[in-house]
Amino acid sequence: MDDKLFRNAMGSFATGVTVILSELDGEVYGMTANAFMSVSLDPKLVVISIGERAQMLERLKKSQTFSVNILSEEQQDYSSLFAGQRKNEEKVAFDYLNDIPVLPGANTQVTCDVAAEHAAGDHTLFIGNVKDIQLNEAEPLIFYKGKYHRLEGAKV
Ligand code: FAD
Repeated sequence: MDDKLFRNAMGSFATGVTVILSELDGEVYGMTANAFMSVSLDPKLVVISIGERAQMLERLKKSQTFSVNILSEEQQDYSSLFAGQRKNEEKVAFDYLNDIPVLPGANTQVTCDVAAEHAAGDHTLFIGNVKDIQLNEAEPLIFYKGKYHRLEGAKV
């Protein structure tokens, strides 16, 4: 199958945008990711999917902890920053939740320990055992067909 067809099909699934943060040897590293979902209520588990070329892959294998920060609609700049699409002009200040760095102003912050890793093709799935959650209730940033969107308060 053509890669473009697969990409276009998967891009038709509208998602939020997250920044995964992980701390290793005193340094905080971030990566933009939309491959995130809830897995289990009891125990509380989530999953993220990290590409084999992402530096975050080895970092997560070593640190075994991460946070998922669901971006608010005001945080599109963080999405491009942590996707490596623009240069970092200023230092990003992080907060901490259970000793795990989180992104201030995110719609929701979820801190996790790595419960399991599963290699799947050119990505690795990290199952996160949820330690804590901070809900901030801001409107979420939406990613659809390769572009950013806002909810604009529209309800069906
Ligand atoms: P790096 O290239 O080291 O980091 C990425 C960028 O973040 C760099 O510019 C770096 O300078 C900056 N950065 C890191 N830490 C800090 C810090 N502490 N302070 C300031 N800047 C910092 N890839 C996936 O594998 N899975 C996904 O689910 C996924 N979803 C995506 C969704 C969207 C909407 C987008 C735009 C991209 C997505 N990507 C995904 C691609 C991924 O974000 C990029 O490939 C990213 O560059 C990989 O980062 P890296 O781990 O290699 O780290």
